[in-house]
Amino acid sequence: MKTRLVFLGPPGAGKGTYASRVSIKLGITHISAGQLLRNAVKHGTALGLKAKAYMDEGELVPNEIVVSLMKERLAQPDAAKGFILDGFPRTLGQAEALGGIVGIELVINFTAPEDIIVKRLGTRETCRKCGWIYNTITLKPKVPGVCDKCGGELYQREDEKPEVVRERFRVYNEKSKPLIDYYRDKGLLIELASEKGDEPPEAMVEKVLQALKA
Ligand code: ADP
Ligand code: ZN
Repeated sequence: MKTRLVFLGPPGAGKGTYASRVSIKLGITHISAGQLLRNAVKHGTALGLKAKAYMDEGELVPNEIVVSLMKERLAQPDAAKGFILDGFPRTLGQAEALGGIVGIELVINFTAPEDIIVKRLGTRETCRKCGWIYNTITLKPKVPGVCDKCGGELYQREDEKPEVVRERFRVYNEKSKPLIDYYRDKGLLIELASEKGDEPPEAMVEKVLQALKA
């Protein structure tokens, strides 16, 4: 079974939702770059203070900041049993830096139709405490506004406003799309498309598990 994984895809393609479920099934660590950054912001660390301005605008945080956070995270003992990187790398520079830190076994590119993605992002809610992702239409929490996993408060992220979402897409097309070719050329890439947006994530989770066994 492959356990050193990267999940790619545009904002709202579902990579975070799939990563959280697949990591539980495999007993490996889910590392979300966005979540690491939001934690750094919440704790007011020096890196977090620098990162916040970029995040609020939907821009990428500079590579040095993200790479140093990820390097530190990957060095923690729980990463040794395997991991899913969600939202990292996002630029060719980050991919090259990652190659110098650890060997990746498989990269999965998730895609979904654009109209579905836009709808999902507009109705997404995130747990302030543990980062679990909900959707007020298709992945509702049992109690509105409360995380099923940890009881934390759910909130809509500041960068999920329509203008900022549009900017995140622009940045994705410019900076992150080239990663698809980069990993394809290395023979590490597979692509998984979700055709409909209203089906529960479990079907895609199954496809991922099959791909990891292959
Ligand atoms: P999504 O996957 O839905 O786009 P994330 O939670 O992964 O959202 O990211 C939120 C924001 O955090 C991004 O818009 C960006 O500002 C910053 N960010 C996350 N990952 C990276 C990264 N690898 N490099 C630079 N900035 C990042
Ligand atoms: Zn929670």
